[in-house]
Amino acid sequence: MSTSADTLARAMAILAHDGEHAYEAVVPPIAQTSLFTFGSYAEMEETYRGQKVRSTYTRGLNPTVRLFEEKMAALECGEDAIGFASGMAAISSAVLAFVQPGDRIVCVEHVYPDAYRLFQTYLKRMNVMVEYVDGRDLDAVRRAMPGARLIYMESPTSWLMHVHDVAALAQIAHDNDVLSIIDNSWASPIFQQPLTLGVDLVVHSASKYIGGHSDVVAGVVVGSSKLISEIRSRIYPYFGGKLSPFDAWLLLRGLRTLPIRMKAHEASALHVARQLAERPDVVAVYHPGLSNTLPDGLQGTSGLFSFEFDGSVNIARFADALRLFKLGVSWGGHESLMVPAQVVRVQAAGPNSAIDFGVSERIVRLHVGLEGQEALLEDLSQAMREAKMS
Ligand SMILES: *Cc1c(COP(=O)(O)O)cnc(C)c1O
Repeated sequence: MSTSADTLARAMAILAHDGEHAYEAVVPPIAQTSLFTFGSYAEMEETYRGQKVRSTYTRGLNPTVRLFEEKMAALECGEDAIGFASGMAAISSAVLAFVQPGDRIVCVEHVYPDAYRLFQTYLKRMNVMVEYVDGRDLDAVRRAMPGARLIYMESPTSWLMHVHDVAALAQIAHDNDVLSIIDNSWASPIFQQPLTLGVDLVVHSASKYIGGHSDVVAGVVVGSSKLISEIRSRIYPYFGGKLSPFDAWLLLRGLRTLPIRMKAHEASALHVARQLAERPDVVAVYHPGLSNTLPDGLQGTSGLFSFEFDGSVNIARFADALRLFKLGVSWGGHESLMVPAQVVRVQAAGPNSAIDFGVSERIVRLHVGLEGQEALLEDLSQAMREAKMS
């Protein structure tokens, strides 16, 4: 189940900046500017007519952002990419660029909760119907597909970590002329390259592993030149939401260590998950690496997974007793994090987002960071002991 040496070597070669920049600098410069001026009327006119491609305004084309987009396109084996101000901007832009009122989309169950809320609110308001299917049930997917506009996927899914046969889903979509989009934030391009499995578009929350240091919120969409240019033709004039040069620079820095970070998250999280699975007070561990086989195309597992306590553990006390694991949402950085489903479900029932994403209250989610697996395990054990004392 380990990533092939080829994938890692390929990623390292893409991520090196050797010879790309002036002064032989190993780090690319930040083009921290909103606009770019023209040398002459003729050049300005040529550019606006589309006869010449060059930067005019950072919402459209900025060299630092472009470098990030090129690296992401190469890592995901795509032709082009477009950077966004957040993962949700990437998701909403990719979906809204292709749907219109009266369309129906198919969505696998248990996608990222805010993507689910987008579908349940805005898409409904636009008169776009969303049909949810269990992505593990290929017959159900086959039945839902005819006549749909697009299929939205995530594998593994959020919280319950359902793993799908992505190549089979993409094939069904293709056979029905349905556009396919997948959220690949969990696996990152180091462990899964969905475009090579036949998916049309890949979206990422770059706030997670791509950035990797919990210091940037960003997103990206990768695909063919044709599809990306269709999205770009709507983003630039209408939706905005573009990635900024400084954030692109942080992402380029984070990407340099993506391959080795993913290997470290994989090893620690697997170790922690296996130990948790042995405990009598843990009724289930939702980690794709605990089954004997990963589906074709998934070459490794990352640091995010969930597990379910039996009734003997007080989850609030467990949370307060943790020392190394911090309480927080998001994930993908160096730090380990814990978030209980029961807390985010309370927030989900608030006035602004009254849509429950539906997982058991006994589930907690861990992001296993880079602190070292034994120390992290010890932290979990002591917190569980604490959470049972009367
Ligand atoms: C965080 C997350 C998103 C949203 O990304 P933002 O950068 O926070 O907007 C989308 N998908 C998944 C799986 C996520 O975890």
